Amino acid sequence: MTTIGLDVGGTKILGVARADDGSIVDELRVESAHDEARLLAAMAEVAGQLASANRANAVGVGIAGLVTPDGRLRYGPNLPQVEEVDVRGEMARRTGLPVVVDNDANVAGFAEVAQGAARGARDALVVTLGTGIGGAIVVGGRILRGANGFAGEIGHWTVQRGGPRCACGADGHWEAIASGSALGRLARERVAAGVGGAIGEPYDGYAVVVAARLGDVVAIDLIAEYADNVAIGLAGLATILDPECIVVGGGVVEMGELLFAPLRRAFVGHLEGETHRPEIALLPAVLGERAGAIGAAALAALTFSASVGAGLRREGSGDERSGDEGSGDEGSGDEVASRG
Ligand SMILES: [Zn+2]
Repeated sequence: MTTIGLDVGGTKILGVARADDGSIVDELRVESAHDEARLLAAMAEVAGQLASANRANAVGVGIAGLVTPDGRLRYGPNLPQVEEVDVRGEMARRTGLPVVVDNDANVAGFAEVAQGAARGARDALVVTLGTGIGGAIVVGGRILRGANGFAGEIGHWTVQRGGPRCACGADGHWEAIASGSALGRLARERVAAGVGGAIGEPYDGYAVVVAARLGDVVAIDLIAEYADNVAIGLAGLATILDPECIVVGGGVVEMGELLFAPLRRAFVGHLEGETHRPEIALLPAVLGERAGAIGAAALAALTFSASVGAGLRREGSGDERSGDEGSGDEGSGDEVASRG
C-alpha cells in the first residue's frame, strides 16, 4: 500500500507518498506554522492532498520533540507555541486515515534501516551530527522508544565532566563536543588562541575542511580531535547496544574519508574488546534531508500493513501506537519478507 510520511519541523513541513517498494512517488513541501491551529491545518492539508492524489491508506508523522507512545506531542523545541497536542488523534480525524506519530530523529533513523545505508539491519544505531545530535536506536527491527517514548535522545548524556555547555543547559554532554556545530567551535577556540593554522574565516566547520584539504596540519589535527569526540560516544553506545552497524548522518558526512578515516580508527580504539568482536561498520547516511518523511511513511507501512519493505518486522504484540484504526491484522507476529 502507499503511505504518506510527514516531517514536521520549525521551518517546513515535508510530505512524501511512499509506495510499497520504498520508492517516493510524490512530494509536497510547505512552510511550517508556529501556532497549534495553523500547524495542524497545514499538516492535514499536506497529508490530505498527497493521500488523495496517490490513493494512500495511512499516514506517518515525524515531529521534532517529545512524543508519547499514543502520538501526543508533549513539547517541541522548535515549536514553542505547540504543547500537549494529540497529533495522532487530530490528524486521524482530519484525514480519515490511520496515523502513527513519532519523534523526527526516530523516523529519520528508521528510514536508513528500512531502505537506506543500514537496509536489512535488525540492530542498528543511526546518529545525525547537525546543529545538535539526533539519533535513533533500532533493536530487533523496531525503534527503541523506552517507557515514555523518549528513548534515543543520544546527544544528552555526559561524556566530559565540566565540559562545554550544551544547548540544553547542561555541561559536557556529547552533543556539546561532537555535533556539527562543535567542530566550528573547536576551530574558533584554536583561532582565538592564535594557533588556527590555515583555518580561514568564518572559522566554521567548512573552513576547517577547506584548510584540511590543502594539507594544513592544524586543520587535520582538529578533525582528528573532533573525530575522537564523535568516536567516544559511538563506542559507548555500541558497547551498550551491540549494533550491526552505525549510520552517521548530518552535514559532516560531506567530509567523506577526511572524517570517516580518523573516526573509524578512534572508534575501534574506544571499543571494549574490539579484537574479539565482529567489525561494526560505520556508514554514511544516504537519504539526506528527506529521511524523516521517508521514515515516517515507512513506519506507517510497518504499523498498518502486512506488506512492507525489506528488513522490517512486526512483532507479535503489534504496535501499541497504532491505536484502534489498524488494518485488523495486528498481532499476527509474522516476519514480513521483502515485497520489493
Ligand atoms: Zn544536552
